[in-house]
Amino acid sequence: MERKFTGVDYYEIDELLTEEEKLIRDTVRQFVGDQVIPIIATCFEEEQFPSHLISELAQLGLLGAWMQGYGCAGLGPVAYGLVLQELERGDSGLRSFVSVQSSLAMYAIWAFGAEEQRDRWLPAMAKGEKLGCFGLTEPDFGSNPGGLATRAQKKPDHYLLNGNKMWITSGSIADVAVVWAKEEGKIAGFLVEKGDPGFSTTLQKAKWSLRASITSELHFADCRIPLDRRLPKANGLMAALACLDQARYGIAWGALGAAMACYEEALNYSKTRIQFDKPIAAFQLTQEKLADMLTEITKGQLLAYRLGRIKEKREPRPQQISLAKRNNVAMALEVARAAREILGASGITHEYCAGRHMANLESVKTYEGTHEIHTLILGEDITGLAAFK
Ligand SMILES: Cc1cc2nc3c(=O)[nH]c(=O)nc-3n(C[C@H](O)[C@H](O)[C@H](O)COP(=O)(O)OP(=O)(O)OC[C@H]3O[C@@H](n4cnc5c(N)ncnc54)[C@H](O)[C@@H]3O)c2cc1C
Repeated sequence: MERKFTGVDYYEIDELLTEEEKLIRDTVRQFVGDQVIPIIATCFEEEQFPSHLISELAQLGLLGAWMQGYGCAGLGPVAYGLVLQELERGDSGLRSFVSVQSSLAMYAIWAFGAEEQRDRWLPAMAKGEKLGCFGLTEPDFGSNPGGLATRAQKKPDHYLLNGNKMWITSGSIADVAVVWAKEEGKIAGFLVEKGDPGFSTTLQKAKWSLRASITSELHFADCRIPLDRRLPKANGLMAALACLDQARYGIAWGALGAAMACYEEALNYSKTRIQFDKPIAAFQLTQEKLADMLTEITKGQLLAYRLGRIKEKREPRPQQISLAKRNNVAMALEVARAAREILGASGITHEYCAGRHMANLESVKTYEGTHEIHTLILGEDITGLAAFK
């Protein structure tokens, strides 16, 4: 039985939130407690995405939540961050689904699409009636997407796409894929729809991380799409990276939720687990772990909060987003590992969440720019010297 989650707020960050932000956070917190926590370990074990939750996510206004118009909730950046924090307290897979739908697929259409493309997709995606995915990574191009090999050839009345994408979240259930391909050597964005001739997907199975999330390969074999499927403003790699910035912002918040879940679980466990005739919470080594966890979570909260308030006024610099994504995901992974240690053998079972979060966070550390790539982004910003090649 899960105790009621009250959050982690050592530095009274609640004082800095508006009433609306707290209300939204508490609503999602309750949804996760009631609908996600009871089922998510089984979903993870059975490698099932809980698709029955999509309509509820939509009803709560959580799909494309930060967007104005098109039936979206129009939340501010901090409220949106708190939504993702709470969802990832449930599971990184659920948060990944919402991030991909909102910050990658819907954002790409919103920022780079024609008005007809927005009208066609965004209201239906906000309602959860249509699902999206974002195909950038390829088998041979992960950290270096600029080299991607998928090609789009312009013919008189259609485009012909050829290539493969890999590790695409929601790929097999998506109605529309935002696909990045080279047209005459330059990266451009295209909308490929389920059922388009020459388009197929393969489910990537046997993952030990993000098992409650759908991950797929996308295949384009002379895939024929109408000319109006090109995103008119998606020109060059910078367009794809702009989408990733939106998603990375959300991940910086989401990772906090996973860390909070692990910290709370370890704290509760340590107070009730008796060894050497006293609770393990009474041992100094356990207390050091808990003190470190709380300190790092608090620092991560302050980073995310400040980034959110910057984003209310202007888009943060991509490097500022890198710093928060890099720090908070690595922090959450360390917190999950420490929680697993405090739980001892129990920590390797699905009765507790620490092991599941730990496994999930390995993916989160790798996707949306690996930890190393964000290190290099910061390194270049600090020194003016790029160390990518
Ligand atoms: C569960 C999951 C879901 C995903 N969902 C999506 C999605 O929806 N859409 C999408 O497009 N992609 C998605 N990805 C792909 C993800 O973005 C890539 O895995 C990521 O960009 C890294 O690419 P790679 O795995 O090919 O690793 P590689 O690029 O091969 O890197 C391997 C290692 O080398 C390091 N490395 C690479 N280059 C350098 C360098 N210059 N200097 C130092 N170290 C370097 C990396 O940091 C890493 O440690 C997903 C991945 C996972 C695991």
